[in-house]
Amino acid sequence: MDKRVLLAKPRGYCAGVDRAVVTVEKALEQYGAPVYVRKEIVHNKHVVETLSQRGAIFVNETDEVPEGALVVFSAHGVSPAVHEEAAARRLRTIDATCPLVTKVHNEARRFAREDYDILLIGHEGHEEVEGTAGEAPEHIQLVDTAEDVDKVVVRDPSKVVWLSQTTLSVDETMIRVRQLQERFPDLQEPPSDDICYATSNRQTAVKTMAPECDLVLVVGSKNSSNSVRLVEVALQAGARAAHLVDYAREVDPAWLEGVSTVGVTSGASVPDILVMELLEFLAGHGYGDVEEITTANEKIAFALPRELRKDMVR
Ligand code: SF4
Repeated sequence: MDKRVLLAKPRGYCAGVDRAVVTVEKALEQYGAPVYVRKEIVHNKHVVETLSQRGAIFVNETDEVPEGALVVFSAHGVSPAVHEEAAARRLRTIDATCPLVTKVHNEARRFAREDYDILLIGHEGHEEVEGTAGEAPEHIQLVDTAEDVDKVVVRDPSKVVWLSQTTLSVDETMIRVRQLQERFPDLQEPPSDDICYATSNRQTAVKTMAPECDLVLVVGSKNSSNSVRLVEVALQAGARAAHLVDYAREVDPAWLEGVSTVGVTSGASVPDILVMELLEFLAGHGYGDVEEITTANEKIAFALPRELRKDMVR
């Protein structure tokens, strides 16, 4: 049996994750440890453990940060209430919210100002959704499941808009939108795609390779929305099996039985070193032939947060 690996490109770090991780690294260099970080800076176990070893302290809420200390807000964004709490505790803040999440916050604020009912498609309890909904809680309703579509109540059906979390499945979001359109034919679209370039590019790459794969391995953490979506997309696109692993050591050799082609990809919060370790593991099991499947070349990069840059140039 021929054994080979198809390696998706793009995969791994997106511009927003890179910026957030570098923000914590530079803050540690610039101000010294400890640097507090509200929530996981990005949803990846390895990244969080590595930054913790270097002096970052991850907390759930700002009230766990000592008064006057430095806190970094994660890539997923925070609600205005969190900024207010931080100001009340005189915390020094660096906001590492991804600019593409900030874009959705701005859309939410604008539509709320214009008194729209906003239907936010996203996963209940996800930090990004909590941050976005916090921009205009009285105008925003969360739509996660098909049942949620039936529960939506709007004041004026001609003044309704949908927005979304940045890391959803492109196809499933469109299903939800069509369900909402059946209820609200005048439903307005977001001014531009809320699902970000990185999420959709990684899903396109997986969709392209999955039909040829007996098994797809996605490197990513279980709380990483875009990584979990890659497993689902791989299965929907025809992979016979798909699993999410944080590390190569989590691969069960039984998964490889009878497998000729293994597809490999990683979520937007995953450093490529973890993918390289997985490729080494697979090579050790006879899958040394690796072919990269490229569906897009990403060149996007974001400047570091202003609060940090102003100190770095001094
Ligand atoms: Fe930004 Fe998209 Fe990356 Fe999230 S996945 S940090 S929205 S670029």
